[in-house]
Amino acid sequence: MANNIINKLSDPSVESKVEIIHYLIKRIERKQTNELFAESILDHLLEREKCSHLSHYCMVGPKYALGCFVGHFLYHYVTEPNFKKQEKLLATALDYVKAFEPSNSALLKKTTTTKLIRTLENFGMPSSFLLNREYRQLRIYYIPYQRADLNGAYYPHLNSIASYKPKEKSSPEYIFLHEIGHLFTYNITGDPNKVPGSFIELNKVINPTWKGDLVEVFVDLFSFSVMVDTEFASKNPFIKKIPPNAQKIIIDYFSKLVSNCGYAKQLE
Ligand SMILES: [Zn+2]
Ligand SMILES: [Zn+2]
Repeated sequence: MANNIINKLSDPSVESKVEIIHYLIKRIERKQTNELFAESILDHLLEREKCSHLSHYCMVGPKYALGCFVGHFLYHYVTEPNFKKQEKLLATALDYVKAFEPSNSALLKKTTTTKLIRTLENFGMPSSFLLNREYRQLRIYYIPYQRADLNGAYYPHLNSIASYKPKEKSSPEYIFLHEIGHLFTYNITGDPNKVPGSFIELNKVINPTWKGDLVEVFVDLFSFSVMVDTEFASKNPFIKKIPPNAQKIIIDYFSKLVSNCGYAKQLE
């Protein structure tokens, strides 16, 4: 049966992932452990992701992205010893996977990603910034489907970006750098829901009436600062909306933040 799971992880379809999760849930309902599948799932990830330790990031293309991405979650879930908890985790994974839909939008390209990473370097952010605090390399999954809820996501503990086919009008380049912004604030603060204290102060100056969530503001202004005055400027939705005097303050803030980033300096 482990072979069957690996075969279903190896094909790019959504249905095969739904089948695996249904199967694992049925076993748990019958009080059968799923732990025996963990090792083959891990072997599959190592083989398909081919994440070299010489690089700070790796890219998993559309053929294996969904299988590896879902496989990574399942690898953790099947080792959950509490069956009730495991059943809940698997149910969440099932809902997540079922929300993928076919789409004709263009997926982010690997070559474009390489250019975006070069743009980050030009901004002062070497690729060592892409490691997380546990020195785990960034994994970028190019998932060839669309979701109604999100265009992309960053998972701090997996240090992974899932890049989906974007909904209308969203640019995958902007979405990618938005997710890198999530990685950045997580690496600085150690908490994906927090922004640096200096940003709370900056936001009082540029956004005095703001009462909402600061993380999304941080990552969007970060993406703006990286993309402005580059070949990707037209892909950023905020460049036209931010007044010129505020633009300068924001760019200065992020340039300083990047150059003062102690954690990444130790990694280089
Ligand atoms: Zn893991
Ligand atoms: Zn976000």
